Amino acid sequence: MNNRLYGNLIFELSKEGRRGCSLPKNYFGDYEIPASMKRTQDAALPECDELTVVRHYTNLSNNNFGVDTGFYPLGSCTMKYNPKINEEIAALPQFQNLHPSQPAQTAMGAKAVVAMLNKALCALTGLAQFTFKPYAGAHGELTGLMVIDNYHRSRGDMARKKVIVPDSAHGTNPASAAVCGLEIIEVKSSSDGLVDLVDLERLVSQEGPNIAAMMMTNPNTLGLFETHIPEIAKLIHDCGGLMYYDGANLNPMLGACRPGDMGFDVMHINLHKTFSTPHGGGGPGAGPVGVRDGLQEFFPFVSPYQGNFGVMMRAYTYILSLGRDQIKNVGPLATLNANYIKESLKDVYELPIDTVCCHEFVFDGLKDKSTGVTTMDVAKRLLDYGYHAPTIYFPLLFHESLMIEPTENESKETLDAFIAVMRKIAEEAKDDPELVKSAPHNTPIGRVDDVLAAKHPIVTYKQMMNDAN
Ligand SMILES: *Cc1c(COP(=O)(O)O)cnc(C)c1O
Repeated sequence: MNNRLYGNLIFELSKEGRRGCSLPKNYFGDYEIPASMKRTQDAALPECDELTVVRHYTNLSNNNFGVDTGFYPLGSCTMKYNPKINEEIAALPQFQNLHPSQPAQTAMGAKAVVAMLNKALCALTGLAQFTFKPYAGAHGELTGLMVIDNYHRSRGDMARKKVIVPDSAHGTNPASAAVCGLEIIEVKSSSDGLVDLVDLERLVSQEGPNIAAMMMTNPNTLGLFETHIPEIAKLIHDCGGLMYYDGANLNPMLGACRPGDMGFDVMHINLHKTFSTPHGGGGPGAGPVGVRDGLQEFFPFVSPYQGNFGVMMRAYTYILSLGRDQIKNVGPLATLNANYIKESLKDVYELPIDTVCCHEFVFDGLKDKSTGVTTMDVAKRLLDYGYHAPTIYFPLLFHESLMIEPTENESKETLDAFIAVMRKIAEEAKDDPELVKSAPHNTPIGRVDDVLAAKHPIVTYKQMMNDAN
């Protein structure tokens, strides 16, 4: 890569005496700093000219991968295109310069935006009211479970401390339940990848009076629509529990159906996934929680402020720019794109559950297992062809999970190019497995030793300090 020429660290480019800036003139006179507070040695700073600095950081930035640079088919975390108009609206000074502690009467515009977004989310989900305080999906789960816990306590129903979570659930589901002081009971998936009704009936008959809620993700983590929701909701409601909907990825539901109509009582939505805020690298996010009518009074206190307002602005802009009619196409198009890739590749990649999927689906590695090429190898080889890898080794239901989510935004040409590369890699695995096993070959850094990197990370640059001393 180009930046190799210029060194990987700015310190490696340092030449004694080079300068890229000059300090402003001192208008204030000199004040003596006590000797005990002064450095005994110069600070170890790189000495570079401006052009070198600009090239160095520009080249480093070119090593980034994002939705704006290429196809990013990351299953479960919806990396959809983030329309630029969202940024323009969120950056309007009237919104951007708000302070969370300023008097409410000076921020009526922002309050109106939150109220209108609330209305839009209620219309899209069939629920009665949302709170916008949670800062991410997991925070939303915790908030929603606290609503449920508060509801049971308000009725003196103290025994309800167990939450049913499917074995395919996102890891945050059991984690949030545990943080909320609830106990997790796992319900199995059947061979068709859906919640196993027989296992669920058994759990309900054993634990009925102790069940606080059932958490469900729909479409589930395999990208499959849970077809038995009416029966499941009835089972849980009949035993006195509530239904929680993990709406982190509401994408495939937009325009198709609404959790509120399916019997769910409480849900969260990841605005950053479903309604487009750039969220790679861990933030920012917003995980508003919606409840059906009658549960509003149980919203807990989870934050003094109104959550991440910039994310709400982006979500509201996204909803308005699509409008009532176009937003109905999001779910069907996301579903069409995922099924198109799945059907085009299932002769060379193992498809454990061969059915119509929603916005994403999971392969269990290459179909031909004799080559020894793993999902990790395929993912690394994709980098050579300029693609971000799909989600790998999640969900844990299969050994070689490869989870693909294209989103509604991608054109047929992009999908076809990706399919061609996936087929090429399958061929390489047969003809030259070593090539795939040793990938990536074209990236600035080759195959990283994951274990070593996790156990012995080197996060400081010792050489420079040695040079300076
Ligand atoms: C991403 C995700 C979450 C967690 O959301 P965060 O904003 O990362 O906390 C929860 N459930 C599902 C299904 C998800 O995909």
